[in-house]
Amino acid sequence: MLICRSVSECRKAVADMRHQGKRVGMVPTMGFLHHGHMSLIALAQSHSDAVIVSIFVNPTQFGEAADLEAYPRDEDRDLAMLRAAGVSVVFIPDTDTMYPSGDETIVETTRLANMLHGQIRPGHFRGVSTVVARLFNIVQPDIAVFGEKDYQQLQVIKRMVADLHIPVHVIGAPTVREHDGLAMSSRNVRLSSDDRAAASILSRSLNIAEAAFPDVTVGEIHQIISKTIASEPRAALRGLDIVAAETLETLEGPVSGPTAIMISVAFGDILLIDQRVIAP
Ligand code: AMP
Repeated sequence: MLICRSVSECRKAVADMRHQGKRVGMVPTMGFLHHGHMSLIALAQSHSDAVIVSIFVNPTQFGEAADLEAYPRDEDRDLAMLRAAGVSVVFIPDTDTMYPSGDETIVETTRLANMLHGQIRPGHFRGVSTVVARLFNIVQPDIAVFGEKDYQQLQVIKRMVADLHIPVHVIGAPTVREHDGLAMSSRNVRLSSDDRAAASILSRSLNIAEAAFPDVTVGEIHQIISKTIASEPRAALRGLDIVAAETLETLEGPVSGPTAIMISVAFGDILLIDQRVIAP
């Protein structure tokens, strides 16, 4: 497994793979890897001949410096996991590499970035699309895999790739969960044991909402989720959006087409997200 830290090293590694006629798959991550990331890598491997994983804790997608600083990191452990998974190349740029001095170019999906979770975390999706556009320009993969857990992020990336004619096929991957249903996340380690136990409320509320389909209105789903989250005193509902699965447009009245339920729930200062797409 090749470890690249500069753009030129990374470009050379990808050029060598292409020389061998390989189809290149990419999985961008912020590290502190878990089974969710590894399932994306397995999916990327099934769609390509060689996979490159990037590890970069992207400062521009964090709102508060404290959150960025508290983001967990363990490069040695990540590298061991990637080696064991048969990853070909790891790209670990530093901030100066991704954001060269004097840089001023941003990429923003103007509608998708500023709705829903983008309203709770202003600038977050602009940071994501900017860094992913830069990563795609450096690596130029044939395919790239992103998790459906970050559902709005997946839609932002798909929109950006279509709009900028970036020649990469973006694939969404299902959410990998802990035994109690909590979506795996690098942030979960920051939860106290009481909050960790309470955090299964996110997926449980989505299960209850899903069970009410198909004879349900958007207003009733709202009530079901709000009531379920409110039943857990440690949890505070921060965002609840019931939207058309592809456009993320807000829905009203009886549920008809494919519907995405997106929730964000705070435990103290830790914000967890989950989502469910239901085709009635
Ligand atoms: P992150 O390191 O949190 O930026 O995540 C990197 C990629 O892994 C993103 O495409 C996420 O959507 C995806 N991901 C994170 N958690 C999970 C999970 N539990 N299941 C599947 N994919 C995930």
